[in-house]
Amino acid sequence: METRELTCIGCPLGCAVMVTLENGQVINVTGNTCKRGEDYARKEVTHPTRIVTSTVRVCGGSAPMVSVKTRSDIPKGKIFDCVHALKGVTVPAPVHIGDVVAADVAGTGVDVIATKDVC
Ligand code: SF4
Repeated sequence: METRELTCIGCPLGCAVMVTLENGQVINVTGNTCKRGEDYARKEVTHPTRIVTSTVRVCGGSAPMVSVKTRSDIPKGKIFDCVHALKGVTVPAPVHIGDVVAADVAGTGVDVIATKDVC
């Protein structure tokens, strides 16, 4: 039997959640105030993922950088590869919210998209 202590990131309350596992299977979750906390804890100990936010360079625009994010969660273990891949990205202006600035980032199958306009 193994226990993992987590802080839920589902909302600013940050509940301290305890997960009990046996043979890699979650058998109990305590400390969560709501169902979202249990869902987060189960996922975090079996298949942790995150949305990644960052910036990339813009060429010829009204601002030198544009904020970006992954369109959906990527595996936590791919975050460094994602950030590293974005360091080499420069996009030409204009950039619009939702434009894909990096497709299939780090082989995750997830695109990185702009989160603001740069003219
Ligand atoms: S368990 Fe629910 S109330 Fe507690 S931090 Fe997570 S989302 Fe918020």
